[in-house]
Amino acid sequence: MKRVYAFENRCLGCGLCEVYCKTAHSKSKDIIKANRNENITSAIVIEEILQPKAVAYFALQCRHCDDAKCVKACIAGAMYKDENGVVRNDKDKCVACLSCLLVCPFGAVKKTEEGKTVSKCDLCIDFGAPACVENCPNGALKLLDDKEAEALK
Ligand code: SF4
Ligand code: SF4
Repeated sequence: MKRVYAFENRCLGCGLCEVYCKTAHSKSKDIIKANRNENITSAIVIEEILQPKAVAYFALQCRHCDDAKCVKACIAGAMYKDENGVVRNDKDKCVACLSCLLVCPFGAVKKTEEGKTVSKCDLCIDFGAPACVENCPNGALKLLDDKEAEALK
């Protein structure tokens, strides 16, 4: 299956991937309203490597692991792998116990602003292509299968 791969050498830390992730998962689908008025937690997060000031940026997002620890740890059946191998979260079932957040080895699960559920990458499976990949101006995020990703390393 294809996953979002991040290429640190192309990332400028502009944060547009976060902006477009929030917009894609908003009610309004409007970039201004989504980012100003709607309380959405981005499923992709830009982290800085500080030594002592920012020397590199990298995007942190779900790997949709084959052996997903978050799915195994979920006490409510809210975290699940769909028929395409995409690890998804059913917000109606989630009880915000944060077990998935604790076991994810990549820190890819975030507590939402209101704390009633969690946020993680769903590959924008309901909207076509991942918004972060589509809108990164520097090509730092790509949707690739493992072989394609290996060839680019
Ligand atoms: S949330 Fe973490 S453990 Fe679960 S599939 Fe994504 S990267 Fe793997
Ligand atoms: S926070 Fe929600 S999705 Fe995560 S383990 Fe708990 S019930 Fe499952």
